[in-house]
Amino acid sequence: MPTPTRLIGRVAAVTGGASGIGKASALRFLAEGASVVVGDLNPKSGESFLEEAVAAGFVRSRIRFERVNVAVEDDVASMVAAAVESFGSLDVMFNNAGIGGAFGPITEVPVDDWDETFHVLVRGVFLGVKHAARQMAQQGGGSIINTASVAGITGGGGPPAYSAAKAAVINFTKSVSIELAGQRIRVNAICPGAILTPLIQQGRKGVDLSESLNRYQPWPEGGRPEDIAATAAFLACDDSRFVTGEAITVDGGLMASGPLGSGISSTSPSGWVGMNRGTTGQGPTVHRRGS
Ligand code: NAD
Repeated sequence: MPTPTRLIGRVAAVTGGASGIGKASALRFLAEGASVVVGDLNPKSGESFLEEAVAAGFVRSRIRFERVNVAVEDDVASMVAAAVESFGSLDVMFNNAGIGGAFGPITEVPVDDWDETFHVLVRGVFLGVKHAARQMAQQGGGSIINTASVAGITGGGGPPAYSAAKAAVINFTKSVSIELAGQRIRVNAICPGAILTPLIQQGRKGVDLSESLNRYQPWPEGGRPEDIAATAAFLACDDSRFVTGEAITVDGGLMASGPLGSGISSTSPSGWVGMNRGTTGQGPTVHRRGS
């Protein structure tokens, strides 16, 4: 089936757009006809993204890469300005960048690691909403999408810092959607289940995780970044015109399966404490408990 072209003439920005869910979404937005600004902390992944997009046949002039740290207000403001400067507007903002964050026993989590987790996952979303909404209000509307997680709904979906941050994203999405609805700015969140991306594979090179991830959910095949991208494309376009303040779970039935499906946090190796900085190009800090 051909890809629909629901975003022709629209401009989208995707944070964390150089890898995993963000990359698949940026490619899907391009396929649907949008011009896309990809913002990411990792310039190497950004270069690979550009090569991949051009190899897939997308016109280079419809794509812009910006090195962005979503936790830094000037970076996020510049990303929004780059979209307007290059393509004339900002119609879709996908606040998706993320890291695994602080893990290990709560009694040993350093305050700085807790804060860094919240800076990326929560402050980053707040800044994306703030600056996108300013631009969209001037244009007469737009769609903002935030990546949360099933970890923000259930306690067992991730380490405490990550779960708390994702819960904050869900409630922030709902709360701010009320304020922005009057300006025709829709704000929604996506709560992915287990999706096979480089983030999940971090530190497990050569290990095939697909089988163990599939075990968590009723649906027989594992979650792919493209499954989240398809939901993001729906939320980005006018098909979701009346959808706002919603957190859509995309998890192959994981949440529906209740207690049986609540074991993802076991992906944190026991006996280790540290900070997973995802695929930012900045290494993790990991040490044995008590050392
Ligand atoms: P990924 O590591 O493949 O991609 C994340 C991207 O975000 C990377 O390119 C990274 O460089 C970028 N990034 C990280 N920190 C950044 C920062 N401060 N500023 C700018 N860019 C930054 O991971 P993914 O699995 O695609 O994750 C995307 C989002 O989906 C995250 O918010 C994650 O928490 C969420 N999520 C993932 C899963 C899953 O199973 N993979 C499940 C639920 C939620």
